[in-house]
Amino acid sequence: MKLLISCHKCLTEDKINDLNFVEVEMCDDGIYKMKCDKGHESTIFIQEQKFEILFDLGAMAFMDGYYREAVSSFAASLERFYEFFVESVLASKNIDHEQYLKTWKMVATQSERQIGGFYFLYLNEFGESADPAEKKQVEFRNNVIHKGYIPKREETLEYGGYVLKYIFNAAKKLRARHKAGVEKTVNKKQLINGPRHGAYSTVSIPTIIHMSARDDEFGNKTFEESLQRLTEFREYFAK
Ligand SMILES: [Zn+2]
Repeated sequence: MKLLISCHKCLTEDKINDLNFVEVEMCDDGIYKMKCDKGHESTIFIQEQKFEILFDLGAMAFMDGYYREAVSSFAASLERFYEFFVESVLASKNIDHEQYLKTWKMVATQSERQIGGFYFLYLNEFGESADPAEKKQVEFRNNVIHKGYIPKREETLEYGGYVLKYIFNAAKKLRARHKAGVEKTVNKKQLINGPRHGAYSTVSIPTIIHMSARDDEFGNKTFEESLQRLTEFREYFAK
């Protein structure tokens, strides 16, 4: 999977009024070494979180007709969102990051434990139970992931919409109460890895979930609307 990143040195140093996109291979840690056709070399941190990128990968797979792959990415996105939620809540309480990592390690290989962590932190924060996972969607996900079920377009569309709505609902509450914790978690990757990379810049890409959106613009699009936007975006870059 490829990603287009604009060369910021073209804009800031050479004042070339052009976004001069460079194609890079998508990677797991969100850190990209790139070189544009003008010879500018830079290290770029993508600010977006793993769960945001995974959801977009799912949407792209969906648009290309790879429904099994789409379901798998949406499911992974939801799991990584639980992790982001837990980390952000704890960061807002100034819990030592090393202690957080030590604890996460105990649940890192078992997603059911992670969901348990999410449910109880959610209850503790908001005084009410999180939305329960919909049985139908959980069964659908398990059939696809574990039993090789080949999903239909409509089922996949419904599942993607369900995951997006679930994330939006919880993320809105998280952002409203723990803005500082969310920012800390978003910036942490740079704080930890930054010094190793020397000079670097951070860029934000407009994902479907788009955690860096303003509060009044966050979480107000349905999955179908987001797919429409992605289609237009793709057509623009295909020119
Ligand atoms: Zn450049």
